[in-house]
Amino acid sequence: MKLLIDGRNIDSVTGATTNVVNPATGEVVDSVPRGGREDVRMAVDAAEARLSKWFAVAPLDRSRLLSKIAQSVAAKSNELARTLTMEQGKPLNEALGEIGGFVSCIEYYASLAASSRASQLPFLSGEGYSMILKRPIGVVGAIVPWNFPVSLLGWKVAPGLAAGNTFVVKPASTTPLTDLKIVGAMVEAGLPPGVVNVVTGPGSVVGEELISNQKVSKIAFTGETVTGKRIMEGCAKDLKRVTLELGGSDPMIVCDDADIDLAVEGAAHGRFRNCGQACTATKRLFLFESIADDFVRRLKQRVGLIRIGNGLDPKTAMGPIHSEEQRKDIEGMVEDAKARGGKILHGGKRPDGVEYKKGYFYEPTLVSDVDFGARMAKEECFGPALPIFLVKDLDEAIERANDTIYGLGSSVWTRNLETAYHAAEMIQAGTTWVNSPPIGRPEVPFGGVKQSGIGRELGVEGLEAYFETKSVQVYEYGKGKKWQFPVM
Ligand code: NAD
Repeated sequence: MKLLIDGRNIDSVTGATTNVVNPATGEVVDSVPRGGREDVRMAVDAAEARLSKWFAVAPLDRSRLLSKIAQSVAAKSNELARTLTMEQGKPLNEALGEIGGFVSCIEYYASLAASSRASQLPFLSGEGYSMILKRPIGVVGAIVPWNFPVSLLGWKVAPGLAAGNTFVVKPASTTPLTDLKIVGAMVEAGLPPGVVNVVTGPGSVVGEELISNQKVSKIAFTGETVTGKRIMEGCAKDLKRVTLELGGSDPMIVCDDADIDLAVEGAAHGRFRNCGQACTATKRLFLFESIADDFVRRLKQRVGLIRIGNGLDPKTAMGPIHSEEQRKDIEGMVEDAKARGGKILHGGKRPDGVEYKKGYFYEPTLVSDVDFGARMAKEECFGPALPIFLVKDLDEAIERANDTIYGLGSSVWTRNLETAYHAAEMIQAGTTWVNSPPIGRPEVPFGGVKQSGIGRELGVEGLEAYFETKSVQVYEYGKGKKWQFPVM
């Protein structure tokens, strides 16, 4: 595939390319240009040239165009999902769900594009009033990770376009294909050239140029906390706006009055969906001691039913880890937990069988007796391994849950609403799910506290993040005497 700049599919200036590899088979799926700084500059120039024209499109027309784009992407769902599975590794049904999520996100912001409101404010002094205008921020650099390349593209471009901004998108180096195809489909559906451009290539080059380019006014980033800090530092130089959606180490607290069957299913879904590679995946399980034995027995049974395989096989419930580097990281965390006394209850190794040899497969893993100082307890465990901790009551669970630098998602499982409200109040996180695994919804704001991020995506808040607020102060005729400069 090629770069997409100003509506044209082109090679990078240097002609260099990078292969995209299928994590289930190790085979090359396709190749993309290895973009450089000059390619980014061309894309930024195209986005800047289109900015005022895009904002001038009437809100109703912008809204209609976004709806048309949503339909057009939906019509290509099967093909897009296949590409996503092949480059990312997730099962086809999850890939289809992700394309569906992108479509819903565009539809949601299409409706807001036509209904967003600004306001008017009377002066306290009665001399006049101020109009509060909402203007687009400008050219936005959208930097996307590999775990949900499509959803996280949508969370940025959908509100950003609705608000009248233009974009240069940088997909993750290992998952550029579906993003290129989706933006291609958007242009085919009528999005004017230059409004969304895509430059593939390494973060250290393409990403860094977006951060340092003075024509870029905002960076919307999803990725690791370490990278997010580097981005914030770089953006400080020109005071670029940032939205940072970063890592998490989400706790799941199961109380003694929880519906155990539901919570077991929630733990399996929360930890092993997308092979555990979700920012809001369940990364630490806290069980009340009184229900722990029963819960663990049922969870082991449930996890034993998870079928690993190539995501294109409809029977696959969990695909491979996305890369060898990522698999080694998970293996290192599991070994560290074992060395500190952790017990493997399930998995803890690569699966046997020739069909798994070429991909980056790892068994769904449960580890008990994990030391609170272990890497799995302290760092973000971004793969299919779940540490299990026992707690005596809710207070201890909340204290342990909050003992992390992260604060993205969390969940509490109980039949008692008072317990649920208390936990939701006390857990330091951007979201608490009650009796549910983590599920994103376009209408609900999402983001992190502590080192899990800054700003919010989705919901009305996600749209606000793409506006600058401007005041126009109007003095009513004949009422403006008070500001007269004294005549001496
Ligand atoms: P990453 O930080 O390695 O990369 C994310 C993106 O940043 C990629 O496109 C990468 O090429 C680019 N990048 C890397 N270095 C850069 C630099 N110096 N300047 C600019 N761009 C640069 O993250 P990843 O491994 O792709 O994604 C996994 C991480 O993302 C996990 O930590 C996960 O929790 C987090 N995540 C967060 C959310 C959220 O909404 N909070 C959602 C999904 C994933």
